[in-house]
Amino acid sequence: MISSLPPELNNLLGSPIDDLSDFFEGIDQKKFRAKQLMSWVYDLGIYDFQLMTNFNNSLRDYLEENCTLSFDQPSTLEQSKDGTCKWLIPKDKSQVIETVYIPEENRGTLCISSQIGCLIDCPFCATGHQGFNRNLSTSEIIGQVLVAKQDLKKRFKRDDLVTNVVFMGMGEPLANYTETIKAIKTLNHPNGFNISRRRITVSTSGLVPQLIKLSEQVNVALAVSLHAPNDALRDELVPINRKHPIDELLDACWLYAKKRNLRTVTFEYTMLKGVNDSKSHALELAKLLKNKPAKVNLIPFNSFPGVSYECSTRDKINEFRNILIESGIMTITRKTRGDDIQAACGQLSGLVNNLAKKSLRQKLKRPLN
Ligand code: SF4
Repeated sequence: MISSLPPELNNLLGSPIDDLSDFFEGIDQKKFRAKQLMSWVYDLGIYDFQLMTNFNNSLRDYLEENCTLSFDQPSTLEQSKDGTCKWLIPKDKSQVIETVYIPEENRGTLCISSQIGCLIDCPFCATGHQGFNRNLSTSEIIGQVLVAKQDLKKRFKRDDLVTNVVFMGMGEPLANYTETIKAIKTLNHPNGFNISRRRITVSTSGLVPQLIKLSEQVNVALAVSLHAPNDALRDELVPINRKHPIDELLDACWLYAKKRNLRTVTFEYTMLKGVNDSKSHALELAKLLKNKPAKVNLIPFNSFPGVSYECSTRDKINEFRNILIESGIMTITRKTRGDDIQAACGQLSGLVNNLAKKSLRQKLKRPLN
């Protein structure tokens, strides 16, 4: 496994089985080579084509000359006192993305990034504050899973610690649609990571057209960054709302749940003191979600330098939660994990050279008319 290979080499890492089958067919090989390659990579951790002994010599040489299976290694690992791990992975010359592992009693969740930065620009989010640089490739998305698995295996001598993967790190995964779909397919495939569809979650801020497309292409759990119960407030907190308001977003969610037979869609709601945490906000939210396949995660806000928002008080969060529960909506308050290493939700900041043009960001925020 080599980093920073010349870009002309075809990086096969993370490619879904269909793409690999097409690739092998295109070089006059049988399609089953795709499964063999995936087995070497994801079952055995072999990235050197010359060690793939069920490939003949000429195929090995061809692959070595034209392809790679490469992913970037982390520069730093930080471990929280609660067991949460965060890897900083350098990208290009001066970028860094973050990947976080959260151990829990019966599962281990890996939170991966899909972009370097994020264009959505939510004002309470550390990633949003940094701006946007570029999308990650499928190999860069899958590379994060391999970095985490390799490192966890080294330290805990176990290969089964990552049971769940959530696209909730840096970036809006549906804004990097094609690469995200490919990565999901490889995560889910029996010859890939074999993680069941219910254990893979895509989290979106509300890109409705892509969400509808997603419902037709893959079957994974869905989380939505809602954060506000009405359009006026959500326009401010999640600016994509100006393009796709709450009604449109919720219709797409219910459609997704129906098509994909999901028991619930998870709605993430960051608790911001004096902003979205009043009793009337809770009642408004309850009205939106009552009798729907919805579950709410209340997230105590994690502060970061340069932001003026504060976390709601514990009493406010409890009051908010109780109103939702009394309306029959499954609601939990998420435990803050990894806050001593800035790995908590909303704190992922990495290092992003902001290439997002102001005009593009403004365009994204403008309402459709
Ligand atoms: S909350 Fe999510 S969508 Fe909003 S800026 Fe942060 S990473 Fe992007």
